[in-house]
Amino acid sequence: MKIHEYQGKQLLARYGVTVPRGRLVYTAAEAVTAARTLGGSRWVVKAQIHAGGRGKGGGVKVVDTLEAVEEAAHRMLGHALGTAQTGASGQLVRRLWVEEAVGIAHEHYLAVVSDRASQTLTLIGSGHGGMEIEEVAAREPDAIVRVQVDPLDGLGDADAARLATGMGIAAERHAAARDLFRTLLACYLETDATLLEINPLVETTDGRLVALDAKFDFDANALYRQDDISALRDLDEEDPLEVAARQHDLAYIHLDGNIGCLVNGAGLAMATMDTIQLFGGRPANFLDVGGGATAAKVTEAFRIMLANPRVEAILVNIFGGIMRCDTIAEGVIAACRAVDLRLPLVVRMKGTNEEIGKRMLADSGIAIIPADSLAEAAERAVAAVAGRGATA
Ligand code: ADP
Ligand code: MG
Repeated sequence: MKIHEYQGKQLLARYGVTVPRGRLVYTAAEAVTAARTLGGSRWVVKAQIHAGGRGKGGGVKVVDTLEAVEEAAHRMLGHALGTAQTGASGQLVRRLWVEEAVGIAHEHYLAVVSDRASQTLTLIGSGHGGMEIEEVAAREPDAIVRVQVDPLDGLGDADAARLATGMGIAAERHAAARDLFRTLLACYLETDATLLEINPLVETTDGRLVALDAKFDFDANALYRQDDISALRDLDEEDPLEVAARQHDLAYIHLDGNIGCLVNGAGLAMATMDTIQLFGGRPANFLDVGGGATAAKVTEAFRIMLANPRVEAILVNIFGGIMRCDTIAEGVIAACRAVDLRLPLVVRMKGTNEEIGKRMLADSGIAIIPADSLAEAAERAVAAVAGRGATA
């Protein structure tokens, strides 16, 4: 789960990290009042959307008059902001963060991520802050330093110094940098984050280390024990189908293909998507209905898949273990009737009560394309989409 920059900064500030003073606003008039209240003579107006790269897209403006604050706010609010990280249509800007401009001496990059392969936390730093790290990695891989930290041992002094040096932080600020690295590691662990990225972390002209941007991603499966973090969720920024799916306890991830997939079990769902790709198709979504899907839940799953206008065929792939095939058949039949399904539907089921389930589907009068193996199911779904293309 992502949060906004201003929320990330407020969280960092609670850990003692220095961030610019700022105010959250929803209108241009409020932006002017915020700038006046902050005082000073330079401000930064920043669009709050869950995507980076805002600066290049016109979503970050450094200004030095109140009129310019108002104008920048007008330009951003209520308009879609497109960046390299949003879709082509961009993301609607609903809130702005107005903060004091900081005198920048140097922009660095700093991030904390988990490295599954080594089972450590990894600090990633670079002296090339302010630009996308992927670009730096591609053009100048040596400009990036990585330090692995065993969560039980914490960050040692030597590793902290190596990171600070690699980032090009001035020697007189290495002690402050080490404290900052440790604080960020603590923040990352305590909040169940999966990404904490500060780009840029700046050395200011008056010698301070300040986080000018803050990007967090949190483990959605840990939110049950992170009430403070959960409260920061902004559903406006999330895919509406994914939000609806969560309300029905369905694991759904929107993808850009045209074959809707309804599967029980995450591993089987992944295998199903792989097999569709193998036969030249493109899955429209990942959807795991879980172990205890009822007819009502399957119906909801159909509704969610069909709300995606790109879906041209549906593939249901069920392994009947604890969940019996006849229960799923009942759900599929009920769902087809409830949503008045008109798209090609391929169903493959295996396992407990398979024969009963298949008979129920065959007797239902619904035009279902049956398949026995996963390969056959994927092939038929791909063929069904191609067939629609040919007749359209
Ligand atoms: P994004 O990563 O989405 O483009 P940032 O918050 O990183 O947005 O801002 C982009 C750039 O704008 C920064 O790299 C920095 O140069 C400048 N900037 C951002 N906030 C401030 C600030 N408070 N004072 C001065 N410059 C800033
Ligand atoms: Mg940034």
